[in-house]
Amino acid sequence: MPNSSGRPSRPMAGRTRRPFNSSSSSSARTGGGERSYSARPSSGPRTGGYSRGGSSSSSRGGYSGGRSSGGRSSFGGGRSGGRGRGRVMSTFDVSKFINLNPAKPVAEAPYEAKHTFNDFGLDKALAETIAEAGLVVPSAIQDQVIPYILDGHDVVGLAQTGTGKTAAFLIPVIQKTLKDRGRCALILTPTRELAIQIEQELRKLTPRMNLYSTVCVGGMNIRPQISGLRRKNHFIIGTPGRVQDLIDRGHIKPGGITTVIFDEADRMLDMGFIHDMREILKDIPDERETLFFSATMSKSVEGLVHEFLRNPITVSVRKTDITSSVTQDVVRYEHHNKFTTLVDLLKTEAFTRVIIFGAMKHSVEKLSLELVHAGIKADAIHGNKSHVQRQRALKNFKDGRVQVLVATDVAARGIHVDDVSHVINYDLPGTYEDYVHRIGRTGRSDKSGKALTFVPA
Ligand code: AMP
Repeated sequence: MPNSSGRPSRPMAGRTRRPFNSSSSSSARTGGGERSYSARPSSGPRTGGYSRGGSSSSSRGGYSGGRSSGGRSSFGGGRSGGRGRGRVMSTFDVSKFINLNPAKPVAEAPYEAKHTFNDFGLDKALAETIAEAGLVVPSAIQDQVIPYILDGHDVVGLAQTGTGKTAAFLIPVIQKTLKDRGRCALILTPTRELAIQIEQELRKLTPRMNLYSTVCVGGMNIRPQISGLRRKNHFIIGTPGRVQDLIDRGHIKPGGITTVIFDEADRMLDMGFIHDMREILKDIPDERETLFFSATMSKSVEGLVHEFLRNPITVSVRKTDITSSVTQDVVRYEHHNKFTTLVDLLKTEAFTRVIIFGAMKHSVEKLSLELVHAGIKADAIHGNKSHVQRQRALKNFKDGRVQVLVATDVAARGIHVDDVSHVINYDLPGTYEDYVHRIGRTGRSDKSGKALTFVPA
């Protein structure tokens, strides 16, 4: 069995260091899934409300177009419409959506990397493309997991999107594949968008290296995927349902897979992919290495770690608490003025790049059309849109052609967009975990973000 002695610790002298977005980090060896992460501290209850017309905010009362009603109250939890979703809260405590005095994210000390990319002994071509891709200093997750993965350990990485987690697993796996071209890594993701993003990053890191990959995701024509699988692939990147389907049809040979990577494992679990995940692993050789990335570590995720990994090393670079670094408030609405309240907000100058979360695919589509009708540049992303439409909507939003992206929880997962000024929960999230994921779309890196949650007055 692998041991942890191979972890290099090198001097840091004489190199530029670019701060990456993580301050607290820890790593620990877990014998079979032992807890090695710190529980998310809950922010103290506060009452608050969104105050119309600028940055001022009161300590009581919610935004309601004039009327305010503050304080704690509970109401039925909204459903986010996904299938097989995680725990649904029966009631919501409004105070959980309010934090008017967030910790200043800028105060977080930049992570001090212990390695440079040159310390990892990477193939020359790979080292060059890393530099060409503009990666100067390893991010916290990269700094800590790359040596372990190179050494052949199973690894649990607790890291959100935006921490550089994709390169953290791609770089060492590419390195190993360059040394042994018989290898094949299967990367499983909860959404097709994430799978495509990973392949794009893989391409960026492997030009002219003759490494082949196929993306196998649902909602897209299976034929090109089947023909892509006919040649030798070094990376197969896909969503569990489609990958399982392709295994069943004999196009993916589980016996040839040497590495399995679960990206955003917690979301896969939430989305009801557990059965597919188990089925897929069933015929993959036990000698495989397994890498497991998750933003959160609930009891059920911990169970998966136990089940799927052998003596994993856990590295956590989670921000201590996203809920304490994003300004959060509620917006009180009456049924008749919910939409106009939203439009008023969006016409405020500060709302430059806004993600609005809605509960259902059709309501997200409808809201986006209504916003366009009201003169707001908006696009929507949800499961009823074709892949091309979703990619286009995302690009419009990323490039600033639309101010607002209306999304379902599932469609927004794993999306990396910088400088989101506001996240608006127009419909309540189904679970508190969903809430945390939603508000994590803003306040990324050292930017301060704002999240507003619509609650009935
Ligand atoms: P991820 O967490 O994988 O979604 O990565 C988020 C973004 O960080 C991507 O756009 C990467 O290109 C970028 N990135 C990854 N590693 C580094 C690094 N070491 N330094 C700066 N940017 C990075």
